[in-house]
Amino acid sequence: MNELLQKMMSRESVKVTSPLLPPLDDFIESLRNIWDCKWITNNGHYHRQLEQALAEYLKVPYISLFTNGTLPLLTALQALDIKGEVITTPYSFVATTHSIWWNGCQPVFVDIEEETCGIDPDKIEAAITPQTTAIMPVHCYGQPVQMKRIQEIADKHGLKVIYDAAHAFGVEVDGESVLNAGDVSTLSFHATKVYNTLEGGAIIMHDAETKKRIDYLKNFGFAGETEVVAPGINSKVDEVRCAYGLLNLKQVNAAIAHRRKVAEKYCEALRGVPGIRFFEDTPGVRHNYSYFPIFVDAQKYGMTRDELYYRMQEQGIYGRRYFYPLISTFSPYRELESAHPKNLPVATRMAEEVICLPMHHELSDSDVQKVIECIVYSKRLND
Ligand SMILES: *Cc1c(COP(=O)(O)O)cnc(C)c1O
Repeated sequence: MNELLQKMMSRESVKVTSPLLPPLDDFIESLRNIWDCKWITNNGHYHRQLEQALAEYLKVPYISLFTNGTLPLLTALQALDIKGEVITTPYSFVATTHSIWWNGCQPVFVDIEEETCGIDPDKIEAAITPQTTAIMPVHCYGQPVQMKRIQEIADKHGLKVIYDAAHAFGVEVDGESVLNAGDVSTLSFHATKVYNTLEGGAIIMHDAETKKRIDYLKNFGFAGETEVVAPGINSKVDEVRCAYGLLNLKQVNAAIAHRRKVAEKYCEALRGVPGIRFFEDTPGVRHNYSYFPIFVDAQKYGMTRDELYYRMQEQGIYGRRYFYPLISTFSPYRELESAHPKNLPVATRMAEEVICLPMHHELSDSDVQKVIECIVYSKRLND
């Protein structure tokens, strides 16, 4: 192990995230059931139970489970037969843009808005060409993007909308799940997300017909024992993960409640610190507190983002520069015309200012205090 990794793993360090794990004894009992049944994958008992439980919890009509959060993006584009150009944002995890590329489509980057870190609706229309077929917005950090305006633009130009909602588990606006917006939304149940199934993901859709098609696609395109209706892929979820996911679903509300308390403490303490910006709760939104990004204005704070980031590390506090660098700066994409920083001024600045603070269900009061003091005192030292 290298030195940094060793320090990060030490007990005293404050980690950026920690996976939500079900009680081990309960999980072992589920494993016994699976061993007894000898049905370990292909739409088993736990699989069907988890799909139903998630649809209810998330308040969505239809859901299809996947083995991770990237295959839903790939499969959603396939299912909707997306070709040509797809409009997206560079301020996200690389999987968003990769999924467009893997479908043989051209990603077109549009800048984000400061208020949500999501796509700026005012800048979408300028990026539409005769080749454009879809928009792929991201509810970054679980902050809902301007779904109504995006839909108006999509309808006007006959475009599909596929939401990368990997961060938006359980997020609601006025009691309605954000996952019901657009044509489909995708989720990730990776270990670092609010809710995990070890690895996992899902597509949310509006109708039984689309679910059927997507269920075929994740099972090699099989529509029956002897019929293949499309060039599908394998993304079937096994019973072990579904049993684990059912147990985790029981404790996810408590985990989110703990995260909310952490977020409240961060907000309260950092509100008065010049040069530090962050998201406050939006009225009417049920947030999931999946991340707590702060944005460091070097001029006003008196220290750059990287200086603060490494100062935190020296004190055993591991934040994350998420999302930095922008996807548009990576070698497969940087030659695209839309990848030019001039086209992406807000995303470029925010990527240079961001640090995601430690945020998970196990942070103690003293952990949170340590993070707050590091940020507040680093500022004072510089005054
Ligand atoms: C995590 C994530 C994904 C990919 O999910 P995996 O489960 O890791 O494959 C896609 N998009 C965004 C925005 C993510 O954060």
